[in-house]
This record gives sequence, C-alpha cells and structure tokens, in this order.
Amino acid sequence: MGIQGNLTRFIDELPPWVKLVAVTKTKSADVIKEALKTGYRIFGENKVQELVNKQSELPDDIEWHYIGHLQRNKVKLIAPFVSLIHGVDSLKLLVEINKQAKNNNRVVECLLQFHIATESTKFGLSCDDAKELLESDLYNSMQNIQINGIMGMATFTEDTKQVRSEFKLLKMYFEDLKKKYFSETDSFKEISMGMSDDYMIAIEEGSTMIRVGTRIFGKREIY
Ligand SMILES: *Cc1c(COP(=O)(O)O)cnc(C)c1O
Repeated sequence: MGIQGNLTRFIDELPPWVKLVAVTKTKSADVIKEALKTGYRIFGENKVQELVNKQSELPDDIEWHYIGHLQRNKVKLIAPFVSLIHGVDSLKLLVEINKQAKNNNRVVECLLQFHIATESTKFGLSCDDAKELLESDLYNSMQNIQINGIMGMATFTEDTKQVRSEFKLLKMYFEDLKKKYFSETDSFKEISMGMSDDYMIAIEEGSTMIRVGTRIFGKREIY
C-alpha cells in the first residue's frame, strides 16, 4: 500500500474532530517526504536532535509536535519552530519554554502531561501538581506560553478495561481543569491520548488528538 496510501486511509477513517499527529521518530526524512505528498503536514518527534535535524531539511510549513520527555537545556533548540509541546510535566520546564519562546518572539503552545499509567517510568503530573502549577504566580505571569490542553499515556497492557479507565481519568482531569482554570478561554480544548494500539479506545473516551506511528509507518527499531 505504501506510506501515502496508509496515511490517507488512516486519516479518512478518523472522526473529523480528531487530529492525527503522525509520529515519525526513527523514520528518515525521506519517509516524511513521501507522507508530505498526501498534503498532510502534522508530525511528531520525541528526540530533540532528531527533530532539529529533520526540521532543517524539510519544508517550513510542517507543523512539528514535540511528544517526548523534554529536558530544559534543550528547549532553546526547538523553541524557534515547534508548534506544540505535548509533554510539559513541571513548572520549571514551563518557565524555560516561556523564556525561550520570548527570545524568539513567539507564544509556544503546550499540553500538560499527566501520569495516568501504572508504570512508574512514565512521566507526568498528578492532579495536585497541576493545580499547584496553575495557581502559581510564576505561571500566571507568563506571556509566551499557552496551555492548550492535556496529554497522557496509558499503561502498556492488553487489558483494554484498564486502558479505558485511564483514558476516562484523563478526560475527567481535563474537564476539571477546564472548569476551574480555563473557563474564560477557548484555547484549552485538546486531550492528546491514544497511540497505535489504543487510539480507538482513546477516541471513544474523548481524545481530540492521537499520536500514531507504527500503525502508519510500520515497526521501528526499539528505542
Ligand atoms: C512513539 C510515541 C507514540 C507513537 O507510538 P506508536 O505505538 O508507534 O503509535 C506516541 N506518543 C509518544 C509519546 C511516543 O513516544
């Protein structure tokens, strides 16, 4: 079927309110060039250097999403061009994003990452962490970031009931934060949840943004 066919077919089957972030980590710039022939423009990467390299050799109109764990000292490398940072999991990181966004005369859009999985290895905020962040003076003084919603990753398990309950929890967090902190704005609207193995459950549970790699581009070398 090829990359173009896979991508087109995948997008055609999504509900129109769900945005696809096509995850191209470990895939070459040539793979992305193939995908671009379909007209599609939204790609996700989880390593800063890989993202920077691809951005420099591919067209400027691509919407690049950073979906991995982001180290503060690397924010400056992606701040000039990144469209959405999915994994914001601390106030310190947000401070740095704000600073680098300001240096670039931009407002950088972000999602707060929540810890919903049972694995302790997955990054993310608790509900209390998020409240503390959103109520801080520091956060409320920032001019160059905008929080568009939240992101989470479910446990890696065959147990679809558990995955579903974790997505339900994330959706609840979203509604709670929206009511408490973002009732005056339309920009807090994204729930980034769902990957190749669980995106259908995520969509049923209210996802607005899915991050899918393997299902479209095939298996990766693990990393
Ligand atoms: C790799 C990755 C994905 C996509 O995973 P697939 O299983 O290949 O669809 C989604 N989100 C994050 C944060 C990732 O690192």
